[in-house]
Amino acid sequence: AKSDGIGKLRFYHPSLKDTMQERIAFESALKEALANREFFLCYQPQVSATSGNTVCLEALIRWQHPLYGLVMPDKFIQLAETMGIIASIGAWVIDASCEQLSNWRAMGFTDVRVAINLSAQQLLVSDLEETVTSALQRHRLCGGDIELEITESVLMRDPERAIERLGALQKLGIRLSIDDFGTGYSSLGYLRILPVNAFKLDRSFVWDMDTGGKGLEICATAIGLAKKLGLEIVAEGVETKEQLTQLRHLGCDLLQGYLFAKPLSVEATSLFLTSSHRP
Ligand code: C2E
Ligand code: CA
Ligand code: CA
Ligand code: CA
Repeated sequence: AKSDGIGKLRFYHPSLKDTMQERIAFESALKEALANREFFLCYQPQVSATSGNTVCLEALIRWQHPLYGLVMPDKFIQLAETMGIIASIGAWVIDASCEQLSNWRAMGFTDVRVAINLSAQQLLVSDLEETVTSALQRHRLCGGDIELEITESVLMRDPERAIERLGALQKLGIRLSIDDFGTGYSSLGYLRILPVNAFKLDRSFVWDMDTGGKGLEICATAIGLAKKLGLEIVAEGVETKEQLTQLRHLGCDLLQGYLFAKPLSVEATSLFLTSSHRP
């Protein structure tokens, strides 16, 4: 019966078979990517709105495949989640970014930390504390050297459990931030009790700041809320001087976006750190 169905579909849609084969090939390539060492990390600086110093580097994963070329995370992270392999990819990201941070520490960049993106399964299912603790130990770092970014929608999927997990991570001294803040319908009640250190204002609001939309009001409100809750606020997707001026005026703490730097290779990040730390 199954092959009948596929046969019929193939008859009406001649390209469907290829598409399915391509999907299957892509998935098996993704399954192999970790073992084949095809992932690497880029780093995007977060700079202080007041001093201009680079305070943090966000690790952003890339997949370099012999056939598909450079694959961006939007094309494979979600797929890796549904395939159930995100926890092992995520564990690699944690270890690789800690290793790189300890290299930068050895080069004399002692006051910068790394931010790591977490997926839902990593927070809710896997043994995250164990993974993080062993990476920190292996690379002689402490909890305060890293920050974990978790999206609002992940936190709201199971808030009780998220609060419990975040609390345990915070006890290790790890900084926590809510990514894509403003897009995930968090209730104000939960925001008040979530153990986090920072909000990352979603770039769609920053984008809307100087387009005459409601972006400016939304940014002002989010920054005000963060300050009232005693949290740090990071703006992502800062691309223009106008956005920079307004975000500074509103009291935003950290800024990230193409205006400062795109996600950079390790070598380019080292150069960026060198030039921005020079007096
Ligand atoms: P995100 O965490 O919101 O990361 C910010 C994204 O915005 C990055 O895209 C970055 O390149 C892009 N971006 C930064 N500045 C600007 C700007 O000024 N303008 C514009 N238009 N875009 C800017 P990227 O690297 O393609 O990553 C996409 C998403 O993939 C990330 O969104 C994150 O959710 C996910 N991701 C990346 N690396 C990892 C990872 O290691 N683990 C997990 N679970 N997710 C990851
Ligand atoms: Ca992020
Ligand atoms: Ca984000
Ligand atoms: Ca995003």
